[in-house]
Amino acid sequence: MTNRRTKIVATAGPATDDDRVLAAVLASGVDVVRVSLAHGSVTDARRRIAAVRAAEAQLDRPVGIFVDLPGPKLRVRSFPDGGAWLGEGTTVELREGADATGSDSSTIAVEGAGVIGQLHPGDRVALGDGGVSLVVERVDSAGKAVAVVRNGGRLLGRPGLHLPASRISTATPTPDDLRLLEGVLDAGIDAVAVSFVRAADDIIRVRRACGGTGAFVIAKIETQEAVDALDEIVQASDVIMVARGDLGVRCRLEDVPHYQKRIIRTGIFYGRPVITATQMLESMVHAPVPTRAEVSDVANAVFDGTSALMLSAETAIGDDPAVTVSTMSTIAARAERDFDHVAWSSRLVSEQPVRLEHASPTQRITEATSAAAFSAAVDAGAVAIIACTSSGTTARVIARFRPPVPILAATPSERTLRQLTLSWGVEPVLAERRATTDEIVWFAVQEAVERGMAKRDDVVAVLAGDPHDPAPATDTLRLVRVR
Ligand code: PEP
Repeated sequence: MTNRRTKIVATAGPATDDDRVLAAVLASGVDVVRVSLAHGSVTDARRRIAAVRAAEAQLDRPVGIFVDLPGPKLRVRSFPDGGAWLGEGTTVELREGADATGSDSSTIAVEGAGVIGQLHPGDRVALGDGGVSLVVERVDSAGKAVAVVRNGGRLLGRPGLHLPASRISTATPTPDDLRLLEGVLDAGIDAVAVSFVRAADDIIRVRRACGGTGAFVIAKIETQEAVDALDEIVQASDVIMVARGDLGVRCRLEDVPHYQKRIIRTGIFYGRPVITATQMLESMVHAPVPTRAEVSDVANAVFDGTSALMLSAETAIGDDPAVTVSTMSTIAARAERDFDHVAWSSRLVSEQPVRLEHASPTQRITEATSAAAFSAAVDAGAVAIIACTSSGTTARVIARFRPPVPILAATPSERTLRQLTLSWGVEPVLAERRATTDEIVWFAVQEAVERGMAKRDDVVAVLAGDPHDPAPATDTLRLVRVR
């Protein structure tokens, strides 16, 4: 295990359904598992969630779990094992209905009804992550069309189908999303990711559907509308994902790296963890080593300031998910050695006045104390920052600054413990609820010593609040010399 600070999200799938593989994947450094609800049933998703919880019990650290709602994404029925090659210039038939049971290199079986009827000759239709595209030649009936392959390639599994923007159904969450969510809300999840978000209202509807569970809501930024409404969406969400797969289909491909930087910056500005996702180590679905371009991509996401890196097909259907995770972990840890902590924190400090303009008094106190902790920790040569936190806010606020020393988040809440698994540099630990601020600080320092983060004569910076305050603010900063 490295002392990597950028978190890793792995997507569960058939490749991790074997308990031994799952245990190896988690042990390789996974902090959070994504369970996609786009494939399989609610029962399958609950089984995967339970398997992760069972494997987590064998580790000495928490593992977060989020489910990913499919949203209004169209898919085609499965290609045979090993996939099928669609050759450029060949003709394929698009079909829907009961006789369209599977896809191959000459037939694309479209899931759902009423999709093919929306197409017109000349429409460009993309498949998967957009690499394969077709141009519709004619529509024979509501359930049958003929198209020519414009860009060829191999298609695997049950890829997405992307219609021209003018024909896209836009409502998210869909009724199916809400049904799926209801089926997994009590299964032990920490967060839910919302696909094809276009406005803050989409997030608000999912938060409402989560009821009083306290599950975090993750906004997947994968449409141009979401990029255009980024500030409002980020403020309505708990976590942001740069969902580069669909983003590269819905927007111009060459915009993706620029949007990635903008989304990460905006997420961090508002104190939200940001996940960078899709095709990070794609070649490792089959290959034992990544391409040089993939290694650079992972490192650049770290330099951009991402909180977490996500693996999708690499772990869900890859040949060796555990090796892929440890490869990503090594690349991220190396990149962090060259991360410019000073430039990063100076920028954040200069942004504080704008950021806090509309903040509540409680938020301003927490922000001011945490910013002071960051600079005090640097000036005092502290070896660690300890955030005593109930909701996790204090830990997230200090993590924004990307301090060069470890952040220990001591929390009495299991929910917070697991939600902090997405926060950059935060090591969450369960702590008993204490009666006074003095006790909270004393026990938290003990914990840091027991974990080997601090030893006698070291200085640690501790952030805490009053446990009896009904509107808790982090109002206490102590620089403690370990005795
Ligand atoms: C993406 O499009 O990049 C993404 C993460 O979503 P999904 O994997 O659900 O397609």
